[in-house]
Amino acid sequence: MVDIVHLRKAFGEHVVLNDINLAVKPGEKVVVLGPSGSGKSTMLRCINALEVATSGQIYVNGTEITDPKCNLNKVREHLGMVFQRFNLWPHKTVIENLMLAQQIVLNRNAGEAKKRGLELLKRVGLAEKADAYPASLSGGQQQRVAIARALAMEPKVMLFDEPTSALDPELVGEVLAVMTQLAESGMTMIVVTHEIGFAKEVADRVVFMDGGVIVEEGHPKDILVNPKEERTKTFLKRVL
Ligand code: ATP
Ligand code: MG
Repeated sequence: MVDIVHLRKAFGEHVVLNDINLAVKPGEKVVVLGPSGSGKSTMLRCINALEVATSGQIYVNGTEITDPKCNLNKVREHLGMVFQRFNLWPHKTVIENLMLAQQIVLNRNAGEAKKRGLELLKRVGLAEKADAYPASLSGGQQQRVAIARALAMEPKVMLFDEPTSALDPELVGEVLAVMTQLAESGMTMIVVTHEIGFAKEVADRVVFMDGGVIVEEGHPKDILVNPKEERTKTFLKRVL
């Protein structure tokens, strides 16, 4: 579903990703761990072409997005992204936030977009907040709206970049619960997070990055409980 082949990304002289290879199968859940500055966000941003790869190829659902001729808007329709900050439109209500992209990008009429939006709000447990403005919601609720908004585009893959790290600790669980439910529904997911419990419970595979390379990857039990590499051990000692 997502195939990263010899990906390299440099900002000027600074090599941030160095020969990343990662193939994510349909329905697979991959959790990416690694210290600050290891290149996790840059890798996600290369997958939806918010950053241009310096070299290497990335395929999304069979389309090479690193091909300069690729229609990126078309490919991005398959990719939902949720960031640390929720980025909801502050002057739009929750349901309007969910309707907007459906109407513009998918050409859905208002009725259809609203119906789909309400279904998704229900799914993330926020049906009663449809007419509220983002500022009146808690951070956890806003993040659940952001997830619903991404899902409204019917993505094939969901990318999450530390979706809970800006939240107060007591709000983390509700967002992880929505993500767990999404994982159970069969969504393909690539999740950058420091939530080791989530990785243990939900991931099919854990990838540990450091210094722009994948240091090791494997089943959560192997990587989280019995890491082979010294760098992974040191990192886990700090976050556990
Ligand atoms: P964190 O856990 O702090 O989010 P990360 O693993 O997501 O870290 P990245 O944000 O991918 O790390 O950054 C990797 C490296 O790339 C860092 O050294 C960062 O300074 C550098 N970098 C990222 N974006 C740019 C940019 N637009 N221009 C120059 N350097 C950048
Ligand atoms: Mg990051």
